Amino acid sequence: MNAVVYDKPFEVAIRQVEKPQIQHPDDIIVRVTTTCICGSDLHMYEGRTGAEPGTIFGHENLGVVDQVGSGVTLLKKGDRVVMPFNVACGRCMNCEEGKSAFCTYVNPGFAGGAYGYAAMGPFSGGQAEYLRVPFADFNALVLPPGTDHEEDFVLLADIFPTGWQGVDLSGFRPGESIAIFGAGPVGLMSAYSAVLRGASDVYVVDRVAERLNKVKEIGCIPIDFSNADAVDQILELRGGKEVDRGVDAVGYQATKGDGKTEQPNAVLEALIRVVRPTGGIGVPGVYVPSDPGATDPAAAKGYIAFPFGKLFEKGLTLGAGQCNVKLYNRYLRDLIISGRAKPSFVVSHNLPLSEAPDAYEKFDKRIDGYTKVLLHP
Ligand code: NAD
Ligand code: ZN
Repeated sequence: MNAVVYDKPFEVAIRQVEKPQIQHPDDIIVRVTTTCICGSDLHMYEGRTGAEPGTIFGHENLGVVDQVGSGVTLLKKGDRVVMPFNVACGRCMNCEEGKSAFCTYVNPGFAGGAYGYAAMGPFSGGQAEYLRVPFADFNALVLPPGTDHEEDFVLLADIFPTGWQGVDLSGFRPGESIAIFGAGPVGLMSAYSAVLRGASDVYVVDRVAERLNKVKEIGCIPIDFSNADAVDQILELRGGKEVDRGVDAVGYQATKGDGKTEQPNAVLEALIRVVRPTGGIGVPGVYVPSDPGATDPAAAKGYIAFPFGKLFEKGLTLGAGQCNVKLYNRYLRDLIISGRAKPSFVVSHNLPLSEAPDAYEKFDKRIDGYTKVLLHP
């Protein structure tokens, strides 16, 4: 079958690989119909994770069940399913408590598992014709049959729940104001979630024009940080009053293997300034535990300097981590079915798998309107 594989930093290729097989009675094999490129893929694409050449990318996957292992009870051939990006056992302590991003069983020595993601276990990705799904009764969410809402439902694999959890991690309550840094797919989903959850004012910071336009489309306030300091702009709009909550949907950006990280601490520092005393900050943006490409020794260890003393003075809470997709995807699916949520406003491109190399390059450079790319094997 065809698959998108990692080659070397800044290069992916389409390769012929072996079709996955059932390896355990709890597995299913899914024929992938839609799979996305994610900002998280860029950590591997840019060479920050030590991914092995040949790794099949893709952790945001939707498709149709093609084969069912003998131990699977809830799924049958032909079901349309979307898989949380987390691979989780469903039975360990963290899974039982809903923290499926931190499954202690599937990937010993690392907190949590995912498809097609270096360090997050031996699970091949779904940017391919077929995908093996372990512990399938737990790791597949059944969707209505047919092809309706395909662009919305595929976002249940990751960014819609991730944006929602980012708002949760900030301690947000209806009526509050919130500043979101990053208008990439995750930041846009955080902003959209805050709107759905009754935020008063939602500010979204970025510098990419097409992304700031999407911020306006959903009724939020775009802040272009290439014009002037983002925090100054937000405080000026609010007569000096800080916001209640903040979200970092940027994470560790663009080290490009030369140790020159693009101010990895800038967003955390800005959030500590812009959030009111006793407010909260949610960090869905990924900070890698180490950066094999960095020449700066602190960056290589994944160290980030930010003003913790100011965070302490303001009594801010800080919540971070990979998204526990299972906690949210069923309810967000039903919001889509009822017509109350349409997250696919974020989708910019629908492409065949063969165009992945070009799409990765443009998404990585954030050019030509590449915001959320869906691939159709
Ligand atoms: P992305 O990386 O394209 O989005 C980041 C956006 O931040 C870009 O639009 C960029 O222009 C903007 N940006 C860069 N520097 C900035 C700054 N100083 N201030 C404000 N904006 C700035 O793509 P994405 O898919 O939205 O991913 C965002 C982050 O979320 C990544 O780190 C990704 O790994 C992470 N992520 C986390 C989870 C999770 O479970 N926690 C899931 C998915 C993605
Ligand atoms: Zn993702």
